[in-house]
Amino acid sequence: FRQIETGQKPGDELAEMERAFNEMIALLEANFARQERFVSDASHELKTPLTIIESYANLLRRRGKERPEVFDEAVGAILSESVRMRELTERLLQSARRPEADTLEMTETNLTASVRESAAAFSGAYGRRVNVRADDVVPVTTDTAKVRQLLFILLDNARKYSEDGIEVEVSGGSGIAARIRVIDRGVGIPEAELPKVFDRFYRVDSSRTRQTGGSGLGLSLAQDIAEALGVQIGIESQVGKGTMVTLAFPTLNLPRPTSDTRSGKT
Ligand code: ADP
Repeated sequence: FRQIETGQKPGDELAEMERAFNEMIALLEANFARQERFVSDASHELKTPLTIIESYANLLRRRGKERPEVFDEAVGAILSESVRMRELTERLLQSARRPEADTLEMTETNLTASVRESAAAFSGAYGRRVNVRADDVVPVTTDTAKVRQLLFILLDNARKYSEDGIEVEVSGGSGIAARIRVIDRGVGIPEAELPKVFDRFYRVDSSRTRQTGGSGLGLSLAQDIAEALGVQIGIESQVGKGTMVTLAFPTLNLPRPTSDTRSGKT
């Protein structure tokens, strides 16, 4: 909030205070509405796997003993839905704890080395080839742990929605300090859906993404992290051709000024 200037008439000060107060109430209300929506969306998302688990457990109780094929199917479904619920809960937790600018550990780092390291770790974990094309050194000031988390989300999407190898490009640039591009040649996203993919819980095709285990939280979390780092995130895609997500690092990644420093106290 702006400071109330001294030297104003008392009436002006009151009006200013009233305006500031109303602004604060509006902010609090918006925050509260967001939280309420988050909780209701999250419960909805958790209900789906729970319902499946419950119905398969009932089936097991009724038929599981005499029919081995029912037993196998039910146990399989219960296990995979449990895994899904665990992943969803982890994402929800990460998503609820939005990264704040003042908790970042900004260090001067070689982005190429850090991308290569993340790509190798991802490749090892999922057995998918990740090709990194980069100059040897691309220096930036950033939080490397957060960049790694960001990359894992993007690589995981590329893995889920494509079959071939994944490309990652790292480059320095003019006007920006560096750029990372994660490119896949997968199913792509229809143009009309592109603006919505960063929304929480949004999935382009929920039947398809259910099979791939999507939660619709990945890109919204990626956007939160990018915002905290001062990194711009963009997505381009063509159905049937593939998707490219670009991260643009600013020349100097300083944490955002707080409202205190912005108000310019004298
Ligand atoms: P999810 O956990 O469902 O993948 P995200 O928030 O990461 O959630 O992505 C939202 C939706 O955007 C996904 O459900 C998917 O339909 C689409 N999407 C994201 N990344 C890609 C990609 N690389 N290729 C195709 N579709 C994608």
